[in-house]
Amino acid sequence: MEGSSETVRERLAHFLLDHPGEEFSLEDLAAVLGLKRGESKRLYEDLVHVSKTLWRRSGGKMYVAMLPPVCMSCGYVFKDLKKPRKPSRCPRCKSEWISGPRFVLVVKK
Ligand SMILES: [Zn+2]
Repeated sequence: MEGSSETVRERLAHFLLDHPGEEFSLEDLAAVLGLKRGESKRLYEDLVHVSKTLWRRSGGKMYVAMLPPVCMSCGYVFKDLKKPRKPSRCPRCKSEWISGPRFVLVVKK
C-alpha cells in the first residue's frame, strides 16, 4: 500500500501549496483529501513527512508549522508536543475538551 500513501502525501502537499498561510485542523485536511474517519490519524505522520519534503524542495523556505492543541476548558496550551497529535486530556484541569492541533504552510520571503 506504499503507492496509495504517496498519493495522499502528494495531494496534501499540493493542497497546502495552494493555501499558504491558512490554518487547517486535521479534520479539515481529512475532509479535503476525502479520508474516512478512521484514516485521519495517519495524517499527523503525513504532515511531518510533507513538511520535510517541502523544506528540502524549497531549500528551507517552506515548511508546515503546527499550532499547538489548546484545552477549551482552561486555555492550557500544549506547547511541548514532540509529535503532532491530539492529547486526550488536559494535564492542568483534566478536561477532555481539547481543540486539536492546526497546521499551516509557512513560506519565508
Ligand atoms: Zn485544561
